[in-house]
Amino acid sequence: MRRRNGAARSLDYNGDFYHGDSFRSGLREDEGIQKKDEAHANMATATLISPEVRARYEPVIGLEVHVQLLTKSKIFCACSTRFGDPPNSNTCPVCLGLPGALPVLNREAVTMTIKAALGLNCTVNPSSRFARKNYFYPDLPKGYQISQYDQPLAEHGWLEIELDGLAKQIGITRVHLEEDAGKSLHEGFPDSDRMSYIDLNRSGVPLIETVSEPDLRSPEEAYAYLSRLKTLMLYLEVSDCNLEEGSLRCDANVSVRLKGAEKFGTKTEVKNVNSFRFIQKALAYEIDRQIELLEGGGTVTQETRLWDSREQRTFGMRTKEFAHDYRYFPEPDLPPLVVPDEWLEEVRRSLPELPQAKEDRFQSEYGLSKQDAQLLTASRAMADYFERVARESGEPKLSANWILNDLIFLLEKHGKPFGDDPVPAGNLAELVGLVSKGSISGTIAKDVLEEMVLAGRKAGEVIAAKGLEQISDPEKIAAVARGIIAVNSKQVEQYRSGKTATFGWFVGQVMKATRGQANPQVVQEVLKRELGN
Ligand SMILES: [Zn+2]
Repeated sequence: MRRRNGAARSLDYNGDFYHGDSFRSGLREDEGIQKKDEAHANMATATLISPEVRARYEPVIGLEVHVQLLTKSKIFCACSTRFGDPPNSNTCPVCLGLPGALPVLNREAVTMTIKAALGLNCTVNPSSRFARKNYFYPDLPKGYQISQYDQPLAEHGWLEIELDGLAKQIGITRVHLEEDAGKSLHEGFPDSDRMSYIDLNRSGVPLIETVSEPDLRSPEEAYAYLSRLKTLMLYLEVSDCNLEEGSLRCDANVSVRLKGAEKFGTKTEVKNVNSFRFIQKALAYEIDRQIELLEGGGTVTQETRLWDSREQRTFGMRTKEFAHDYRYFPEPDLPPLVVPDEWLEEVRRSLPELPQAKEDRFQSEYGLSKQDAQLLTASRAMADYFERVARESGEPKLSANWILNDLIFLLEKHGKPFGDDPVPAGNLAELVGLVSKGSISGTIAKDVLEEMVLAGRKAGEVIAAKGLEQISDPEKIAAVARGIIAVNSKQVEQYRSGKTATFGWFVGQVMKATRGQANPQVVQEVLKRELGN
């Protein structure tokens, strides 16, 4: 018992104890712990692979990502899904798993899963089925999880990732809908050394599981895939993908094989990773560990391993279950899930423009570079903001530059989040318009924007308050011009003898003398007159 608690706590280290990922059966528990000890013994030598040896192997990675849906109520009952409420306050007979309670499917959860599936280019099955996945765990009062098994809601899709400028399609095996289990709390109570607590608020919260094909070939590709998947889910507004609250969780299957080999090697599953960077590190570690095992004449055991971010390594938990361990069978309390064409089409019509399409359109419609289009479409909020600024100012490229080069920098500098507060799109459009008309110089505009960020004021107000208005009065400008002409007779002579390039120098001098406030067009007219041409 003592050892078990120890292992459970190490699971908790990353703050997200993923239910049912450990000790699913008493029988396996001891094996699991033993594996852990063996693995510890292996650790010390696990990262001594030379680049030459590593280069002979090819990693094969597939990811299973659980995303918590943004529905207001749970998947099979009307309880709230709100995060952070007092433990066990959002529960009812259905999600407590009391005998006789019957599940009723939440339509919105299905709609959101269809959205995600379409975004992942999947085929949505007109009929799919829920299945019981049986296992024992204290935070799973029913003794089974309602999931989907042999007939998932959607299959056969793909997600495009980009790495080093190269696009690659990663196959999506399936997208299915399931319920979450509760949470076991092993820490934070005065008697945590002896007791574990159960919070069932999460029990019955809807999840979609996206399973990729084993198409990923490096930890970097896995990272790119996860980022892309998260962006997509955020665009579709089906999940907040909050990693800290456990709204997005990832399990990675990884194996290695000699390059050119057809057969996949034995895979391990890495769990308990709560950040994309950690997944990348855990995969890199696990790849080296497997290569070293094989190089030493050993074999890889199919097992579940955990990433310990403190020690920067994975360790074995338990031998991995096979599907037959779960005794799946069709859920008798729910009819088949039927998605008629009309529903599917309705969801299809409701889809927003997706990141890739937006990126392409930003290039063709606004003439932006690929890089700028990529940066601006990283989030839907930023893309929308850009479009509003671009349309209102009529200057898309300039708008992109001001957002990417100046606004983001200033918001970060002053610790403000990106959005319409403190600089609404209309206000930035006004500033961009003033710059494009030459009403204020770029240098002045940067100061104005900083003031806009700090005080939440409009460009015009800042300019008026700081006396930065443009000087358009020809007489005022002429006075400045005459002063410059009077003390620069050499340049005047050059200009008059035909060296017309000197004209630009005079314009620059007048602009400098007026701190950029002179209207450049009036400066040109005045200078031509004053220089006698
Ligand atoms: Zn409930």
